Amino acid sequence: MQGIVDGIAAHVAPLCRQGQVASYIPSLGGVSPDNFGICVAMADGGVYGAGDWQVPFSIQSISKVFSLALVMSYDYDSIWKRVFREPSGTPFNSMVQLEADHGIPRNPFINAGALVVTDRLLTLTGDAAASVRGLLRQESGNPAVDVDAVVAASEADHGHRNASMAHLLASYGNLENPVDEVLDNYFKQCALEMCCEDLAKASLFLARHGVAAGGTPFLAPNQSKRVNAVMLTCGTYDAAGEFAYRVGLPGKSGVGGGIVAIVPGRCAITVWGPALGPNGNSVAGIAALDEFTTRTGWSIF
Ligand code: GLU
Repeated sequence: MQGIVDGIAAHVAPLCRQGQVASYIPSLGGVSPDNFGICVAMADGGVYGAGDWQVPFSIQSISKVFSLALVMSYDYDSIWKRVFREPSGTPFNSMVQLEADHGIPRNPFINAGALVVTDRLLTLTGDAAASVRGLLRQESGNPAVDVDAVVAASEADHGHRNASMAHLLASYGNLENPVDEVLDNYFKQCALEMCCEDLAKASLFLARHGVAAGGTPFLAPNQSKRVNAVMLTCGTYDAAGEFAYRVGLPGKSGVGGGIVAIVPGRCAITVWGPALGPNGNSVAGIAALDEFTTRTGWSIF
């Protein structure tokens, strides 16, 4: 496996400057596109990394997997009364569909759906961002995982579209908490900073059918299956079909350039390359995961 990840890092290095680093959150815009990291955390404990796999980055929308898993762990599946689980076919921050669908977001990984999940987690725990951080610390084994306050503030300062969406959700009665509190928790969870190694370890419960790092069930096996299914169909923006075609695994990407992918029963893989393609997915990251499933044969298909 070490040879495979080393080979992939070398293979995708020339792609790092293809695409654009996200700059609509100004503090993300300064990250060098030359970074590339990959980590494979095996369900049986082995960890293999290459490149910048221990350099922290902003996990952004990848946090939405963990907030969804937490809500499902407390609430079984009642969240699905407030969020659909279909691909949206629209950009992650689109508002048009939300109005047409009367305030029920198309899935939990577009921003509107993630705001509803964060709202529910806030009701359940009193501090949604701290719960996501707690889960990530516990599962990665790294107590230093934390929010990058500068990124969170940058998002809040430029968060007019997310604020509009939250108000629209509230107008349809699909928020339980005040808009400002939901947004604050959402911006903080998106601004969590982690490296590929910690994020791969923290995602392993989805490869272990819901079993947490300590060996106890965090999610029931069929809940873990469902989170993976929503990642497969909705986890990589409006390019989930292309991701399934090229990679063939459940995955979730973020505008910080990270992607988490799961091989159920085997491993979690994290890649990070900050330059994004037109659909918001890391160009080098997608290429690396494509190589990974090609070289290992570990796709779900
Ligand atoms: N915090 C980002 C936003 O709300 C998340 C975007 C993403 O990674 O998809 O715009």
